[in-house]
Amino acid sequence: MATRVLVTGAGGFIGHHLVSFLRGRGYWVRGVDLKRPEFAPTAADEFVVADLRDAQVSMSTTQGIDEVYALAADMGGMGFISQHHALILHNNSLINLHTLEAARCNGVKRYFYSSTACIYPEHLQTEAEIEPLKEEQAYPAAPQDAYGWEKLIAERLCMHYMEDYGMQTRVARFHNVFGTLGTWDGGREKAPAAMCRKIAYAKLTGGREIDIWGDGEQTRSFCYIDDCVEGIYRLMRSDHGEPINLGSDLMVTINQLADIVARAAGVRITKKHIEGPQGVRGRNSDNTKLRQVLRWEPSVSLEEGLSRTYTWIESQVAKQLAQQVGPVINTLQRGSDKPLRRAV
Ligand code: NAD
Repeated sequence: MATRVLVTGAGGFIGHHLVSFLRGRGYWVRGVDLKRPEFAPTAADEFVVADLRDAQVSMSTTQGIDEVYALAADMGGMGFISQHHALILHNNSLINLHTLEAARCNGVKRYFYSSTACIYPEHLQTEAEIEPLKEEQAYPAAPQDAYGWEKLIAERLCMHYMEDYGMQTRVARFHNVFGTLGTWDGGREKAPAAMCRKIAYAKLTGGREIDIWGDGEQTRSFCYIDDCVEGIYRLMRSDHGEPINLGSDLMVTINQLADIVARAAGVRITKKHIEGPQGVRGRNSDNTKLRQVLRWEPSVSLEEGLSRTYTWIESQVAKQLAQQVGPVINTLQRGSDKPLRRAV
């Protein structure tokens, strides 16, 4: 009989891709989320639309399940994370506490938890040219935002559930995952998606200037979604119970990120640097442990990943522009005296 897995957050970006990946490997998959995936139908055998802050939902969705992949979280890019501390800490703590305890009660054997590079101490990330972060540097703990604290508590919860109850828990610290079929506008999008959107709008509307938060010299590494789900799967199959970095170790500035996206789009752009939340000044992943433990590391190049992501986001932007401009053209054709506005 196929192994039965639950993916929480299956309506979100990584969860949706993970469901497809696991189905492709013969697993029976139940997904749960507040919403269905926005951009493509789910591949899940069963999809429950429900709120995991409710303990009864966690209890019912983990019933009959062998393995849980816990990805549900109330989160977004820097703009969102830096402005919703109470909401994030409250909602995600409830989700994590309930899901893990329900998994224990229902005899789940393996549990994957999606942590983040945001758990690392802020004072290690004050320069753009930063040493890559090693797993053991998480302590003494001093994350920048409530998002990091919430993830750190959940990491520890996983560790204690393994020690005290014998449940096999696995924890990956993701470093900026990006790709197709992810949120690209509305305020929760991350830097790569926002960059693709801004450049697609510039290209499709004839503009050439894009806004960048800060001086653009802040650094990050970015991991393509296919590598992320492959890494999750390999970690889940491994015997490594400690938290581990899962990301690329190629560090670039946000300005360089913009240049790569502009090349993928085939346009020249001008960067306008404006005030905005930037997060820590520099961050990169040390992949020494990842290579040792999994004998593997992410391999999709940043150029290739951004090119695939840009193509998809440009098609989304084109659709949105058509929806906005279509009615205006119709009105003009009917003789309205309102000017045609450029939709951005
Ligand atoms: P996402 O926002 O696309 O997906 C999260 C999903 O969780 C959403 O679909 C949301 O509706 C769902 N959710 C939120 N509250 C819920 C609730 N109360 N009940 C049920 N579902 C709920 O985010 P993502 O990028 O796919 O991230 C997945 C996980 O990976 C998250 O835990 C996130 O913190 C972690 N992570 C992501 C990144 C990244 O770069 N994308 C980096 C570090 C960590």
